[in-house]
Amino acid sequence: MISRVKGTQDFLDLTLFNFVINQIKKHLATYHFTEIATPIIEPVDLFKRSLGIYTDVVTKEMFLIDTGERKEKICLRPEATASTVRAFIENNIQQIPWKVFSHGPMFRYERPQKGRYRQFHQITIEIIGSRAMAQDSQLIKMIDRFFHEILQLNNYALHINFLGCFDDRKVYRELLKDFLEGPKAAGICDRCKERTQRNIMRTFDCKNPQCQSIYRNAPFIADNLCKACDQEWQHVQNDLALLAVSHAYNPTLVRGLDYYNKTVFEFVSPQLGAQDAFCGGGRYDQLVGQLGAKEDQPSIGAAIGIERLLLLLEQCKDKLPLPTLPSLQVIIPMSDAQYSLALLLADTLQAYDLVVDILFEGSLKSRMRKANKMGATYVLILGQEEQEAKEVTVKHMVTGEEKRIAQVNVVDYLKK
Ligand code: AMP
Repeated sequence: MISRVKGTQDFLDLTLFNFVINQIKKHLATYHFTEIATPIIEPVDLFKRSLGIYTDVVTKEMFLIDTGERKEKICLRPEATASTVRAFIENNIQQIPWKVFSHGPMFRYERPQKGRYRQFHQITIEIIGSRAMAQDSQLIKMIDRFFHEILQLNNYALHINFLGCFDDRKVYRELLKDFLEGPKAAGICDRCKERTQRNIMRTFDCKNPQCQSIYRNAPFIADNLCKACDQEWQHVQNDLALLAVSHAYNPTLVRGLDYYNKTVFEFVSPQLGAQDAFCGGGRYDQLVGQLGAKEDQPSIGAAIGIERLLLLLEQCKDKLPLPTLPSLQVIIPMSDAQYSLALLLADTLQAYDLVVDILFEGSLKSRMRKANKMGATYVLILGQEEQEAKEVTVKHMVTGEEKRIAQVNVVDYLKK
């Protein structure tokens, strides 16, 4: 047997998955977002330039594609914000703000565990070209409403932080470096020491409890903002309160990718265990310029992790208005002599939008049992007698009522 690649999954029932996709499409349409799709393969440089060359995603987790002698540097996308920005620039989009969303698989060579896969799915939502901080609050409210009102989730929290502008972070990195290299942080782990040199704000992501207790006394970026950023940070918090979005300030939330500035947020749930974030996002005011546009476009976006959302929904899906299965009719031809007639009958019923399956093999008894297991409403039996009389025996699987019906009347009978 050839097994699936480590860190991937087979989806054998997409009911919940498709429900989430259909609902988010409806929800985002209300907020005037348009659906787009970008390629799954992208140039490696797109992510090196956007996510940052020292981020884990770029240094360790990229799925690089071997193009042999062609030497094209291509990879499977690890996320879709950079792709959306590339599409914005490449297609010379003039409609600003550009409010778009997409969904599909992402690829990261991470250590697989519950809720963490090497191929996973995201819904990516972006607003490109808006400086207004009110946009941040609206985006967060829109996502919160999706989780709370549409998916009826309760057991989650929204964490939020403010990373300031480029200059704020420059000053702050020095402050943090002094702290991390000073006596108060002597006990941090080796990985954090390495991050202090390479990607200093990511030290806060360390899961080690000793490091975390040290970081409680670290200087925080939100306490070291310039006046303009501090006002913006107050605005975001006030607007969220006005829109009744409960949120918690998390001073060590920095998010994994380099392009974020100002507002960053994560939706987390204790029900998910170690990988507790099921949606994350933030502002990326410099990314458009960084990826080669003539003009910078302040932007904000978010990504919802579908697998983690499904883990949460699995536990409360009974509350959701999931689509019910349509009524099923099963045709049973008694022998090979009725196979063609069965095909013809199925074809006619399907043309009238009736859901039909044919069971060709097995004894009548075993096929009746199978039809029952499949949840058939009606079983249509075609034997030699029925064939000669141009009739079909129709059995209602719940009441057990059995009737001989002329083949020409079957559609009407089943439709009523
Ligand atoms: P990110 O693109 O890293 O900001 O992640 C956004 C969301 O995608 C996270 O909050 C997770 O829900 C989901 N996610 C990220 N990485 C993975 C992964 N390896 N497996 C499953 N979900 C993931």
